[in-house]
Amino acid sequence: MAKVSLIFSQKDCCGCHTCEIACKQEHGLPVGPRLVRVLERAPLFMQYYCHHCGDAPCALACPEEAITKDPDTGVVLLDPGKCTGCSAVEGRSGREKQQTSPCKFNCPAGNDIQGFIGLTAGGKFTEALRLLKETSPFPSVCGRVCTFPCESDCNRKQIDDPVSIRAIERFLADRNRAGGDAYVPKLQPAREGKVAIVGSGPAGLAAAYFLAKNGYKATVFEKLPVAGGMMAVGIPLYRLPREALAADIGVIGKMGVEIKTGVAFGSDVTFESLKKEGYGAFFLATGLHKNVPLDIPNPNLKGILNGIDFLRDTALGNPVALGRTVLVVGGGNVAMDVAMTAIRRGAGDVAIVYRRAQAEMPAWKREVNEAVEEGIRIVTGLAPKQFLGKDGRLAGVEFKRSQSVRNEDGVVELRFDEADLTRMEADTVIIAAGQAADVPLAESQGIPVDVEGRFIADPVSLKTPLQGVFAGGDALYGPRTVVEAIGSGKAAAVSIDRYFRGLDLLTGREARDAGLTPITEPVKDKYDPAPRMESAWLPVGERMGSDEVQLGFSEQEALEEAKRCITCGAACVQACPYGVMQFNHETLKAVKCDLCLDKRKRGEAPACTWSCPAHCVYWGDASEFPAGINDGLQRIVP
Ligand SMILES: Cc1cc2nc3c(=O)[nH]c(=O)nc-3n(C[C@H](O)[C@H](O)[C@H](O)COP(=O)(O)OP(=O)(O)OC[C@H]3O[C@@H](n4cnc5c(N)ncnc54)[C@H](O)[C@@H]3O)c2cc1C
Repeated sequence: MAKVSLIFSQKDCCGCHTCEIACKQEHGLPVGPRLVRVLERAPLFMQYYCHHCGDAPCALACPEEAITKDPDTGVVLLDPGKCTGCSAVEGRSGREKQQTSPCKFNCPAGNDIQGFIGLTAGGKFTEALRLLKETSPFPSVCGRVCTFPCESDCNRKQIDDPVSIRAIERFLADRNRAGGDAYVPKLQPAREGKVAIVGSGPAGLAAAYFLAKNGYKATVFEKLPVAGGMMAVGIPLYRLPREALAADIGVIGKMGVEIKTGVAFGSDVTFESLKKEGYGAFFLATGLHKNVPLDIPNPNLKGILNGIDFLRDTALGNPVALGRTVLVVGGGNVAMDVAMTAIRRGAGDVAIVYRRAQAEMPAWKREVNEAVEEGIRIVTGLAPKQFLGKDGRLAGVEFKRSQSVRNEDGVVELRFDEADLTRMEADTVIIAAGQAADVPLAESQGIPVDVEGRFIADPVSLKTPLQGVFAGGDALYGPRTVVEAIGSGKAAAVSIDRYFRGLDLLTGREARDAGLTPITEPVKDKYDPAPRMESAWLPVGERMGSDEVQLGFSEQEALEEAKRCITCGAACVQACPYGVMQFNHETLKAVKCDLCLDKRKRGEAPACTWSCPAHCVYWGDASEFPAGINDGLQRIVP
């Protein structure tokens, strides 16, 4: 036998799991319905399929340059002399690790954080940015406004403080932008299939980015005159300058994605019209751009504004009539953005009124402190009872006392005292009490929605009940974050690719998360305490323009901060987009399944091959396989 291959043809698979059962019997593995169970209990073995990516991110991620691709076969090779195993878990090499660093585990976009931090620490800034761009189209945005779940469980906390990951991401993106020649990811050869994406927020644009990268033609339809969704018309300029957003979106344009602004789905274009234009799949990412109104008397007085509309009009340069005294009703991050924008638009006296205690505010503490620093008053324990008017204009708001109380069942509920009333004068009140979906749009297009008006779709594949239609981002999940929207755009791109190729939408996708766990016991003895570096903020007195209030890292700061990373997981394992990276330490080739290594060495076929009733698992000399099986197959062992 010249070269032994093990090949799984997904298009022939009938989904019976006989191969898995045979495999488990052969190896005495615990019974269970899914392969996931095997992974949980026998963490040394994985059965995923290495796709040997065009631009192998594992090779890119390795700070030691220990991984290369064989130029003839494309097989990923390891140089053991250079591999340090990232030395996180003593006595275990990268091959055996089925755990991942908490930063990557917690990142909804699946960014290989350890990889890009490691490259940054070595001064390889361009490589670090390229690695980041493998999994996220928005480093300039996320480097500024990400809610950084990556930092929350960072193992560096076991020594002192988490690594400033977000600031390093921003440094890499800004450095690339300053260089003037933005990095544009390499595209796969063109594939059949046109995709219509509705909404140019992070979910829609991320889907377009990954589809374009994979060779598909993607067009984004955006009803507003600008692209970016809430990144452009929600998040204020002082936190996210438009040049930074434009830099990330510009790359998506250079990848061939067409973004048609000023085109509303449901009126300017519909499913029917787009199908006639040859679009074969749809991704709906329309976000939550309606306001949740306050259900209290006198809602139509002049001077009552809605938070989402106010921020959008401000961002688009539309006229907004703002009085001197402004009340903002709400306690979340949107309320903080509204209040700080109102101050920048010339309001003289701004107060945020929230119905519970300050400690219960859903807004981030940092944002609340920032608002207070800028002179905004926080008034708590008051719930709006009615708007007060004079000659059709707002004159103020009447509030009733409110507070959280734990009831007899231990449940915290909001209680009101209708007798304890407070009146506050105001020229303008801005309501920031929540975001809602565009239900009439969904209804007009026959898109199924739940009671809250959010799209109904499978949580993993994002497939809606409509043929070829997928949905994601805030319009599916409810109000979340940019990085979660990116994750859903990416998942949609995977599903749409599988949909076009007639492959199962779910195979192997749940398993990746279930199989990997975060590393919680890293080797940390060799690291000395070193304080976390924070990027600086503009002094309060200088913040009132629309300039960015938080500054970026210098090169020296980025280098030093990156060196604080304690490299908990093997960089190559983390970088692998399929979660499969393992090396056969004899051949030094990347392999996926090593359960039957001994049998294969003896020339015997693995159990999964002969047990398959659909004949979709092939074993032996690849040159002797039947013609045509290469369509839709995935190689298990090169
Ligand atoms: C004020 C504010 C501040 C925020 N700050 C942060 C932050 O600091 N960090 C963070 O991570 N997250 C933040 N978020 C949340 C984050 O912006 C959202 O979670 C994210 O943008 C959702 O992405 P999306 O793509 O699902 O939707 P969106 O970004 O809302 O984009 C949806 C797009 O679809 C378009 N659209 C809607 N209907 C149609 C139609 N019929 N035809 C064509 N186009 C249509 C909309 O115009 C919009 O451009 C903030 C949100 C708000 C409101």
